[in-house]
Amino acid sequence: MSTDNSVENITFENDREKKIYEQCLKICRSTEIEVKNSPEFQRELYEKCRKLLKSANIPLTQPRVNLLIILMMYKKPLTVEDIIRISNGEIATSSIYRNINELKDKNIIDEFQTPENTKVICITNPEDHHHHIFCKSCGSINDIELEESFEKALEIEIKKIESLYNVSVDSHSLELSSVCNQCQISKSN
Ligand SMILES: [Zn+2]
Ligand SMILES: [Zn+2]
Ligand SMILES: [Zn+2]
Repeated sequence: MSTDNSVENITFENDREKKIYEQCLKICRSTEIEVKNSPEFQRELYEKCRKLLKSANIPLTQPRVNLLIILMMYKKPLTVEDIIRISNGEIATSSIYRNINELKDKNIIDEFQTPENTKVICITNPEDHHHHIFCKSCGSINDIELEESFEKALEIEIKKIESLYNVSVDSHSLELSSVCNQCQISKSN
């Protein structure tokens, strides 16, 4: 009476979870991103996403998984419109805002304004800690990771600030403003 609940080495809790995984694979396969989009990569993304939801004590649902998979796959802040377009009809516009708010409340994702006042969404869990670089010419945004030594030094600074001002700091962000490579090329032509 054992049902086979494993696909490509993932053990699923039940058939429902298996369906969730299969549907999110559809999104991964239809993406225009080609780099690192192998079955192993997709499996890794899913496991990461599952771990994230479990550690925050949020039930695994299709919209949540789809949303997180897209954010993890693109590794850069996306607008709600971007996410809906990438999902290829797999994320309903009617439920996306509710899901975003839920994940925001659990500090799994963050929503912020770009210098051009566009609202974007990005993953924020500590394992994926990163910063952003904006292009002030075209508005493109990308995630960047800084040296661990820098983050450590910043932590020490923050500890000092906490005791100096008697506050409790729960996060930090650092945004770099730039002119991207593409904009530099088109400017010089
Ligand atoms: Zn980001
Ligand atoms: Zn640019
Ligand atoms: Zn940092």
